[in-house]
Amino acid sequence: MASIDIEGIRKSFGAFPVLHGVDLAIRDGEFVVLVGPSGCGKSTLLRMIAGLEEVTAGDIRIDGKRVNDLAPKDRDIAMVFQSYALYPHMSVADNMSYSLRLRRSTKEKIASAVSGAAAKLGLDPLLERRPRALSGGQRQRVAMGRAIVRQPKAFLFDEPLSNLDARLREQMRAEIKKLHGDLRATSIYVTHDQIEAMTLADRIVAMHGGVVQQVGTPLDLYDRPANLFVAGFIGSPGMNFFEGRYLVSGDHADLKLENDVTLPARRVGGIESGEPATLGIRPEHVVITEGGALEGRVDLIEPTGFGIIMHVTVHDVPLKVFTLNRAMLNPGATVRLDLPRDKLHLFDGEGRRLG
Ligand code: ATP
Repeated sequence: MASIDIEGIRKSFGAFPVLHGVDLAIRDGEFVVLVGPSGCGKSTLLRMIAGLEEVTAGDIRIDGKRVNDLAPKDRDIAMVFQSYALYPHMSVADNMSYSLRLRRSTKEKIASAVSGAAAKLGLDPLLERRPRALSGGQRQRVAMGRAIVRQPKAFLFDEPLSNLDARLREQMRAEIKKLHGDLRATSIYVTHDQIEAMTLADRIVAMHGGVVQQVGTPLDLYDRPANLFVAGFIGSPGMNFFEGRYLVSGDHADLKLENDVTLPARRVGGIESGEPATLGIRPEHVVITEGGALEGRVDLIEPTGFGIIMHVTVHDVPLKVFTLNRAMLNPGATVRLDLPRDKLHLFDGEGRRLG
């Protein structure tokens, strides 16, 4: 297995820059997920690591060795695509063994590698089938099997589950995690799905507009998002935000909204009284309680089965609340809410985390 170092990577297509200088050190055996909205440059970064795209500036090192000028086949990396990219005229077994046959491995080695991977992925009964006779999930398993038999230094996944239905995606997600637990192979996984990122990653790299916004464990990003983008992107339903001015009085701080309503804030450094700020709180952290300081009007109830998402208006500001309490409140009802200070996130006028 291998470490992968990305140093000052820039990429432009013609005059159009898509990556503005990315630095990232991926440790041996680590599972790193690149996540971000469509167009943020995550696939381009992955394709450069694979050697499928040239870098405009910067270096990529695999186990310390610069690979910028190495052809994809010489990087010893396996890529699993969303489209599976299987050879339609070959059986599952032949698809899986293709790279080893190219390398002229012995028959015994090939047979043992294929049967080992097939057993891991539950593909034994399917080895003689052609890809068209497989379901989407089975095809994706074959694509992973083909990557595993090569015993590459690292695995790169480009949205591998995007073509699967929600149930199968959940199942395959757990299988990929289990497989990584078994193989401990350095893996880089691209997705726009924050749940996939949260559940799979040792570390998440959140990207936006060709710039890395934050690198950290899933809980780092959830508990201490570095900026408004990460705060809004990670978590579902998304974080609630209130914009206003930060007002300090003694040990206390409040946020004064444009309509003169004040919300409780927290005393943090890096901001002066009177400066613009945004306050954030996750829907699952808003507390519904009779003695709550804020009064809200229920606009809409979305039951999820697991709990309910309540859309509430507080002083003309929309707020989402997630609660496990299934006691149904009807639209139009009044609720009292608390925003616990220790659950508040504060961001400065530029959207950077405070405190
Ligand atoms: P998605 O999830 O939609 O694939 P992404 O974050 O992976 O998005 P990229 O595919 O890396 O984004 O694309 C980043 C930007 O680069 C986009 O604006 C895209 O249009 C542009 N781009 C990608 N490939 C090329 C290319 N070959 N030529 C020109 N522009 C490109």
